[in-house]
Amino acid sequence: MAKNRNPRTLQVLATRQLSPSMHRVTIGGEALAGFPADHQGGYIKLFLPTGEGEGETALRTYTIRRQSADALDIDFALHGGNSAGPATSWALAARPGDSITIGGPGPAKPLPEADVFHLIAGDMSALPAIAANLERASPDACGHAVIEVQDEDDRLPLEAPPGITIDWLVNPEPGLRPENLVGALRDIACPEGLLAGWAACEFAGMRLLRGFLRDELGLRPPHLYISSYWKLGLDEPEHKLVKREDAEAQPV
Ligand SMILES: Cc1cc2nc3c(=O)[nH]c(=O)nc-3n(C[C@H](O)[C@H](O)[C@H](O)COP(=O)(O)OP(=O)(O)OC[C@H]3O[C@@H](n4cnc5c(N)ncnc54)[C@H](O)[C@@H]3O)c2cc1C
Repeated sequence: MAKNRNPRTLQVLATRQLSPSMHRVTIGGEALAGFPADHQGGYIKLFLPTGEGEGETALRTYTIRRQSADALDIDFALHGGNSAGPATSWALAARPGDSITIGGPGPAKPLPEADVFHLIAGDMSALPAIAANLERASPDACGHAVIEVQDEDDRLPLEAPPGITIDWLVNPEPGLRPENLVGALRDIACPEGLLAGWAACEFAGMRLLRGFLRDELGLRPPHLYISSYWKLGLDEPEHKLVKREDAEAQPV
């Protein structure tokens, strides 16, 4: 777990709008020295200003989309309107030279190396982790990934093994229609042989995916990774509580 370990204060080096609903912030600086290498696809905690009490911060969890010796790319799925939280607001306002304190890293959850057919599903919050995993997958990996985005133009180019097919679903209202991802996975014709599942998305969608991958297909770790990354209507601390209760009641 990343916990709040090893907090370090970095600087914003650059920002870039990758697509209508994905915004990249590149952070780095001297304090990145000693940050553990090889954590692409792992995660960090961001200590974000709440705008309330002086120095008050909110913790949010984000994937290390890309890591180099002197920089980390963090990709923020934008959820605007009434649901913009401290993380998305910070990312949109970030300018080169701004400071940000981070904790971590926590480990990546890569695709299992074994000779399996991969079933991968996620929404935009998991797109950075899926992209990092596909980049690192074995070149002869096979499978099918279904990724839900908010806009046609959020279909970012992904570097993936040729044996992994990628399908995109467009849902402009993330968190509504949680049945989308599981419905698309069910339609995939899987070959005979071992399967592996990797899924991360909004809580209700995760539960449906868990019902399919764990209960119907019988997948278990290390051939199953499943996690909710956020929950509609709850901020991250509230989601964490629900997630913990659910994991205790329904261990994978
Ligand atoms: C291991 C891990 C890695 C993650 N990596 C990434 C990542 O790389 N990129 C990324 O964008 N997210 C990622 N997430 C999800 C991210 O932590 C949450 O989406 C977080 O709640 C966003 O914080 P916020 O301050 O923007 O909103 P919060 O203050 O937490 O929530 C405010 C409101 O926004 C809603 N909301 C939160 N997230 C979303 C969303 N994605 N879409 C629509 N509505 C939302 C909430 O339901 C709430 O109503 C990751 C989560 C985990 C557990």
